[in-house]
Order: sequence, then structure tokens, then C-alpha cells
Amino acid sequence: MTRFGQLFNLLGLFMALLEILHFPDQRLRKKATAVTEITAKIRQLAEDMLETMYDAPGVGLAANQVNVQKRLVVIDVSEDKSSPLIFINPEIINKQGEREHEEGCLSVPEAYELVTRADTVRVKALDLDGVAFELDADELLATCIQHEIDHLDGKLFVDYISNLKRQRIKKRLEKQFKQQR
Ligand code: ZN
Repeated sequence: MTRFGQLFNLLGLFMALLEILHFPDQRLRKKATAVTEITAKIRQLAEDMLETMYDAPGVGLAANQVNVQKRLVVIDVSEDKSSPLIFINPEIINKQGEREHEEGCLSVPEAYELVTRADTVRVKALDLDGVAFELDADELLATCIQHEIDHLDGKLFVDYISNLKRQRIKKRLEKQFKQQR
């Protein structure tokens, strides 16, 4: 391999930006399956998803959004992008209260709508070493966890808004992404 090739490979390894699917792409509706083994491929996917999320920029990304139907989610709600969280096979084991929060989504660009979800959640997941952990979340993190787990089940935040609004967003994005091709 040439030195140039090696450099390219190195850059590719650390900075692989993944393509994000956009609503109404039907691949976003596929249900993700559990991660059964944390392989090098899964670790690389988590790294690439974080890069892709920071680059976008966004605060959360589910594997479905990059066309991988595995139950893997990355989140960072910190101001300075210093607190990456990786959830493998996440499950909400407790929910409390209700709160309305304005949501957006990297798969639904430039659309922001109010969605009512649980106010606080307790989530159970595996980390990249396969170790189980539980986390209590409130505020933006609670919203984000619920939003991302929805993705794993093929659900989008626009499913919670009126049909009229959803159709409007759908038409706009269909037009926008057709023009880009
Ligand atoms: Zn989303």
C-alpha cells in the first residue's frame, strides 16, 4: 500500500462520516435487531456514528438513521460535545411524568415540533465493553433517549404530530432531496 493509501486509510478509520437517511425514506421504518456480540465492527460503527452526529451537528443518532438495523444509539447533550454516551440494546425500564419538548431530528432536517414524552426515564443498556449499566435521565437527555429508542423501533418524532404537518414536511423533504441528486 502506498503512503498516500495508508494516510487515506487512517483518515477513513477515524473520520468516517456516514450518510444519514431522510424522512420519508422507508428504511427508517425498519425495526432494529439486538446487538448479540460487540465486535470490532460495532465499535467502529459507534465511533463513526459519533463523528457523524458531531459533524451534522446533532445531539443523538440511532443506527437505523445510517441504515444499520442494529440496536445502537449515540447521544451527547453537553454544550461542548464532551460527554458522548453509547447505548447498546437500550431499554426504558421506568418512566415518570409528562413533558412537552420541541424536537428536531437529523433525518427530518429543519423541522421542529412539540412532542409530549415522559419527563424522566431510567434506561438500561450495555456499554461498548458489553457491561450493563443503568442511567436516570431528565430534561433534554430524557427526551433524546426516548426519541432515539423510537428510531430503533422504526418510529419518528413526526409520527406524534398532526397528519397535515407531517405531510407538509414530507413534501418539502421529498422535493429538497430530489433536487440535490
Ligand atoms: Zn431522530
